Amino acid sequence: MGAERCNFSSWQLVCRVLGVEYCETKSNLMQAAEDTLERLIRLARFQREALESGSEGTAAAIDQELEQTFGEKERRLGALYEHTREHGC
Ligand SMILES: [Zn+2]
Repeated sequence: MGAERCNFSSWQLVCRVLGVEYCETKSNLMQAAEDTLERLIRLARFQREALESGSEGTAAAIDQELEQTFGEKERRLGALYEHTREHGC
């Protein structure tokens, strides 16, 4: 008896269990937003460590990267909210 291969991603599985329609686009947009948030967290932590160790130059250099990533987070979350509103998913 061979095990049936599961072609569902974890989100698809969750949606199926909950009886909610799965939207691939929403899933991709959510993943993109989560990746950017994760990057923001890492950058902020890196900056705090730089400040703690007295590397003010490094901390200042991270500022620009943080601001760019924050802008990206705004765009990605905006795209997610817009899709959810228009698609009703
Ligand atoms: Zn959708």
